[in-house]
Amino acid sequence: MKKNDVVTVEVTDIGIGGEGIGKVDGYTLFIKDAVIGDTVEVKVMKAKKNYGYARLMRIVKESAFRVSARCPEARRCGGCQIQEMDYRKQLEFKNTKVRNNLIRLGSVEEELLDQIMEPIAGMEEPFRYRNKAQFPIGVDKEGNLIAGFYAGRTHQIIPVPDRDCVLGIPENKVILDQILDYMREEKISAYDEERHKGLVRHVLVRYGFTTKEIMVCLIINGDKLPSSEKLLEKLTKIPGMTSITYNINKEKTNVIMGSKVCPLWGQTYITDYIGNVKYQISPLSFYQVNPVQTEVLYGTALEYAGLTGKETVWDVYCGIGTISLFLAQKAQKVYGVEIVPQAIEDAKHNAEINEITNAEFFVGKAEEVLPQTYECEHIHADIIVVDPPRKGCDESLLACITQMQPKRVVYVSCDPATLARDLKYLEERDYKVKEVQCVDMFGHSVHVETVVLLERK
Ligand code: SAH
Repeated sequence: MKKNDVVTVEVTDIGIGGEGIGKVDGYTLFIKDAVIGDTVEVKVMKAKKNYGYARLMRIVKESAFRVSARCPEARRCGGCQIQEMDYRKQLEFKNTKVRNNLIRLGSVEEELLDQIMEPIAGMEEPFRYRNKAQFPIGVDKEGNLIAGFYAGRTHQIIPVPDRDCVLGIPENKVILDQILDYMREEKISAYDEERHKGLVRHVLVRYGFTTKEIMVCLIINGDKLPSSEKLLEKLTKIPGMTSITYNINKEKTNVIMGSKVCPLWGQTYITDYIGNVKYQISPLSFYQVNPVQTEVLYGTALEYAGLTGKETVWDVYCGIGTISLFLAQKAQKVYGVEIVPQAIEDAKHNAEINEITNAEFFVGKAEEVLPQTYECEHIHADIIVVDPPRKGCDESLLACITQMQPKRVVYVSCDPATLARDLKYLEERDYKVKEVQCVDMFGHSVHVETVVLLERK
């Protein structure tokens, strides 16, 4: 096989990035946007010795699992990878991905998984579920202002058709229309990443699904937003608007937010609920983006924790204390650990507004704070919950957990490969995997969240 070859191939598998996989005379082709079960005509773009990457040219025969995308830009936009795959098939793909990782990298027995792994918890309506969107602002080839999303793996802005992403709330469109109007009327420039010039970089919108409160934050490459009163005139008319701010980011970086948030109108936060716990969320806070499924995720973590009211619980990688406060209602004491100081301030504040007095928070690296408090203050743990970023837990943290000997470890993971690696470590040291539940937090993307219960042998 060589570059520019055109071949017809049946797609028989799904790659970890959601791409279709087909074989031609034993040679493997990875084909973006091809769905398992499709027969497709493709053009080879890059040919290695045993495998290559091909571009989908034409669908010869449609798979039974193929659906038409709701968004016309689904293929180009980096947000969704598998919108053309039937949602039930997406769920099956995610469950299989986790299962295979646990077996291959985690050495979890297949027979055990057959017994304990629950079917993935999917959404009834997997659209319009996101409570947060960050739209890059730019200009098209003709110089017209656009708002959109980045194309996969690049920083090219794809204008969202009608400024309405089908994963987000319909209000996004109204907000973006008003902001672009304001920018045109007041001659305010969009940020140009390459030249590091221009003002408006991104628009952040957050929405409280239970409270219906809306937050808008403009991220700007400057200190001030000119004629901001004109913007406020437009935005404050939108029902639900509660917080309008701007954020200063003058760095040449692809990190979206800077550290300073300046108020323009209303509060600098919105309020939302998960279950009956209230959270105040500022533009810089980390907050789960799918509130419906977050409740399922945290509910599962709570169930696995098996609290009776007498336990001491550690919530490691606690962010703004979302899981901590959820668990605090059923535990004697909860300790949270998180590396971002601002998040811990939010966590403490959120404990206060909920009148939760049995939660305490520490700032620092989990792998340092946990061993220190264990050794110096002899704080024990009945249950440890970990919810690390994609790279998983530091090995020294896992070592400390095995020393602390909690009855149960609840592992919440957004990356099945590092989850499997960490489970293997714990399985080799007195812990046994008891329950596995995947939760679909990010429909139409290839990401999957997993909750695992481990018990001390
Ligand atoms: N449990 C929270 C947040 C999970 S995201 C929730 O559900 O909302 C993972 C968190 O781990 C982030 O807030 C990140 O800032 C934090 N983090 C990353 N590395 C860390 C480390 N080494 N020690 C402690 N926290 C860390």
